[in-house]
Amino acid sequence: MSLEKPNLPEVRRFDSSTGARIYRITCDAFPGLTVHIYLLLEAGVPTIVDAGSGLGHANQQLLAGLEKVRDEFGESVTLADIERIIITHGHIDHFGGLTFLHSQAPQAEIAIHELDARILTAFDERVAVAKRGLRRFLQDAGVGNDLLPGFMDIYGFSKKNVQSLPSVRTLVDGQQLDGLRFVHAPGHCPGQVCITLGNVMLTADHVLPEISPHQAPESIMPYTGLSHYLESLEKVGRCEGIELGLGGHQAPMRDIYKRIKEIHRGHHRKLDKILGVIREAPAPVTTDEIAKQLYIHVVGFHVLLALEEVAAHVEYLYQHGKLTIANLEQFQREEDAPIRYVVA
Ligand SMILES: [Zn+2]
Ligand SMILES: [Zn+2]
Repeated sequence: MSLEKPNLPEVRRFDSSTGARIYRITCDAFPGLTVHIYLLLEAGVPTIVDAGSGLGHANQQLLAGLEKVRDEFGESVTLADIERIIITHGHIDHFGGLTFLHSQAPQAEIAIHELDARILTAFDERVAVAKRGLRRFLQDAGVGNDLLPGFMDIYGFSKKNVQSLPSVRTLVDGQQLDGLRFVHAPGHCPGQVCITLGNVMLTADHVLPEISPHQAPESIMPYTGLSHYLESLEKVGRCEGIELGLGGHQAPMRDIYKRIKEIHRGHHRKLDKILGVIREAPAPVTTDEIAKQLYIHVVGFHVLLALEEVAAHVEYLYQHGKLTIANLEQFQREEDAPIRYVVA
């Protein structure tokens, strides 16, 4: 644990040009990762954005964070006042605490983009679909059959604390709700939304200040993938007048437009690098071979993250006509043959 780490939960207040008060409550998500939950006051009904991971002490930290909002900032709000819970996207660090939060504020309406709604209403089904997509992806990527079960396990599909909800309110792109405007930004997650309140944007995991949000190929899950992500970056960059970006993790961003350009450039550098690796390889390569060459020192869960990240870039290059499948005959003949690429 880092010594600079503040005592969690940490609470900070921000104000929007619409007069909304935004409280950022920082909780632990997983070991080594913190996540922000936002409480919005004077932005329509009292609203909580995201629910944290629900793991470890996360739920207790959320309660303690709300207590701090009352004790240190003089607000009177309690969970009984919360009328809306918005989930920015269907990743466990953002919705894992929803079962608990919902039990504490059963009166609150729960809203999520329609493309991620089934994560909340039919979690087991969504996991089964994702699992099948992942297995097919790992085969295509050239991960050996011996490693496949391990990869499937570390994906962490056994989320025992998640209970499906009977129904949720679904959000769509451009929708306005009490002064909140939703921008659908698929890529990092299918139903990722950014939320604007006047001059403030809650960027969730779409734009982060220090890391480039994780990418996975849309061969695993439609509406993820780098093509969607880069289009969404441009789309969010066209939202005018944002003076403060508040992400799902890490520090506030004063200039989201600059950060968007940096992330964009970073992906294009990575695309060039991967194209170079494929061009210089002595024989056609699989995605797994490219990932092993680029990420030598990663272990455990990070091996899968690195593989997904590389695969998202390989998929982008293929979609944009930069690569071809070198072993097409074998690919046609054998159901589980890995795909080997060469530069087009
Ligand atoms: Zn995420
Ligand atoms: Zn996240």
